[in-house]
Amino acid sequence: MRIDIITCLPKLIESPFQHSILKRAEEKDLARVVIHDLRGYATNKHRQVDDYAFGGGAGMVLMIEPVARCIEELKGERQYDEIIYMSPDGELLDQQMANKMSLLENLIILCGHYKGVDERVREHFITREISIGNYVLSGGELAAAVFSDAVIRLIPGVLNDETSALSDSFQDNLVAPPVYTRPADYKGLKVPDILLSGHEAKINEWRHQQSVERTKKRRPGLFRE
Ligand code: SAH
Repeated sequence: MRIDIITCLPKLIESPFQHSILKRAEEKDLARVVIHDLRGYATNKHRQVDDYAFGGGAGMVLMIEPVARCIEELKGERQYDEIIYMSPDGELLDQQMANKMSLLENLIILCGHYKGVDERVREHFITREISIGNYVLSGGELAAAVFSDAVIRLIPGVLNDETSALSDSFQDNLVAPPVYTRPADYKGLKVPDILLSGHEAKINEWRHQQSVERTKKRRPGLFRE
């Protein structure tokens, strides 16, 4: 998978892809994230990418020209499955959406800033608008990083143990069971005996039971009998 991220603050989004699982995905050639600085596509000599909103009011708006130039250049290089705009009023990101997105080849993600982006970009270039929750961030960069992380870790081979993504919360409409590691006894706080029993079938059964109970308690809306 290749993800092209368009931003006016490239520094803000570089780091999440340079560590741990996302870095490994890149090293294994399973995912490639390319960050594009919108300023490099500015059409005037001040490298301006935003301007005041028509009609007045506080806050700047990303201009259509640099965004269009960048998207068109990328579209000239390869076919994109989706051109995504991160937006608080978009479709809410959830695990099902991440699963589907992880099957795609090429994505563009546009990060808004300030007051957002000129509406004509959304109407004519964007194929999908995605929100990471019902709250407002100051820019789309952190949202794009959250989205990309949720998607890239699902690509087969990215996680060492392929089954580990399948046992995460929300897969199968259940949240994850509690997990423990050494020591087995911390100042009298003990790990459930069953986990030390070595009895795999019983451990799996206990974990499933815990998942069911937790889901009923914490995410009753997810639970299906
Ligand atoms: N004025 C806009 C908010 C702009 S916030 C409004 O009220 O809808 C600036 C940018 O941050 C947005 O363009 C978007 O790209 C990003 N952003 C903010 N909150 C987000 C969220 N919950 N999910 C995804 N992107 C978000």
